[in-house]
Amino acid sequence: MAEKHFKYVILGGGVAAGYAAREFVKLGLNPGELAIISKESVAPYERPALSKAYLFPQGAARLPGFHVCVGSGGERLLPEWYAEKGIELILGTEIVKADLASKTLTSAADVIIKYDILIIATGSTVIRLSDFGVQGADANNIFYLREIDDADKLVAAIHAKKDGKAVIVGGGYIGLELGAALKLNNLDVTMVYPEPWCMPRLFTAGIAAFYEGYYANKGIKIIKGTVAVGFDSDTNGDVTAVKLKDGRVLEADIVVVGVGGRPLITLFKGQVEEEKGGIKTDGFFKTSIPDIYAVGDVATFPLKLFNEQRRVEHVDHARKSAEQAVKAIKAAEEGKPIEEYDYLPYFYSRSFDLSWQFYGDNVGDTILFGDNDPTSAKPKFGTYWIKEGKVVGVFLESGSPEENKLIAKVAKLQPPVQDPEQLEKEGLAFAACV
Ligand code: FAD
Repeated sequence: MAEKHFKYVILGGGVAAGYAAREFVKLGLNPGELAIISKESVAPYERPALSKAYLFPQGAARLPGFHVCVGSGGERLLPEWYAEKGIELILGTEIVKADLASKTLTSAADVIIKYDILIIATGSTVIRLSDFGVQGADANNIFYLREIDDADKLVAAIHAKKDGKAVIVGGGYIGLELGAALKLNNLDVTMVYPEPWCMPRLFTAGIAAFYEGYYANKGIKIIKGTVAVGFDSDTNGDVTAVKLKDGRVLEADIVVVGVGGRPLITLFKGQVEEEKGGIKTDGFFKTSIPDIYAVGDVATFPLKLFNEQRRVEHVDHARKSAEQAVKAIKAAEEGKPIEEYDYLPYFYSRSFDLSWQFYGDNVGDTILFGDNDPTSAKPKFGTYWIKEGKVVGVFLESGSPEENKLIAKVAKLQPPVQDPEQLEKEGLAFAACV
């Protein structure tokens, strides 16, 4: 049985791993000290590209174009960069056993990897319809999107089923981005979701009405208030139809399912403290076990601004939590203190010509401002969330970089609101004065 030992091991080779590696190098790393273990066969890349530019019909993004850290305007870390820095990329390697007590990881091929310090960065996995026993859910051409291999299979199907019919199951950000991407590829797209409007975890009815109207104008059909309960397939096993709970049957050559994810923490069950579905950490991403850190999608960390423990499944947090954990590791070695993580939640999405950003918390009353008419030539609108007389969250569609900075500032500073009607009239001008 092969055995390796490293001072630092990052388990998972996604967004957080890449940003952590860059931070290690920045703060001082000797060759041979760090290894990144990934089930994927490519070096860390900016995962959000998979549901956006990767699927474009023309000029699609391909590796090495979107390796980290280009998504945040940083240097692109090519596989050679890791080699130059003496970082071992252990790719195409799934860890199937983690024994935190003996600091030992075991791969599917029985390779043993030992570490002094472990950063858990295993991210999330998709929830599959077959997990709920949905009939026919294992037919061919029913896709989920998490890793680059998933995206490659989807691209192949888009080419094979040219101008065919696509059904998107789920109205979250994956559903909305995939609906747009498949439409751009000239498929006939229908979206299906049970909620009264899309992205219900973030969008208000007013925000969602804009996107649903915009998508409808692009020719995308939207069916709400029902779910997929089964699939038909032909003699090759290829999906041919989606059966809905309300009795309707939709023809389909391609189905994309985006019904959520769950953090990949099963390897550590019973060995480390959990909270809210993730691995519990402090503001330095230290877990309940010494020398074990958890970052990115798997970490449930103290969100100082809102004074509560949260898990955040977004790329900005993956990057920043990774950097914070490495800073904490290096500071601890040098016996120096560092500041606790003080995160401002930030989410974004892009589809068609649209682009939105959200900062803060989506709780309390809401005020919609601006032009959210989906037929407008240049729609631009936003929403403020107000809790206990203060703005706690801001959403903006089609903001300029400067305007997006302004809304981030508002969400961070949480200014008081005297007159909600005035705020509605002022709209973005309010943010400019904060
Ligand atoms: P990941 O980037 O998922 O990396 C985890 C890595 O761990 C993977 O390489 C995985 O293969 C590996 N791994 C897991 N288990 C094992 C194991 N046992 N052995 C070896 N390797 C393992 N966020 C936004 O804010 N905006 C967006 O527009 C956006 N778009 C997205 C689009 C898509 C298609 C997806 C899937 C996610 C998107 N996200 C977006 C979310 C964002 O990408 C994630 O929050 C981020 O990637 C989390 O980083 P991570 O490093 O924690 O996990």
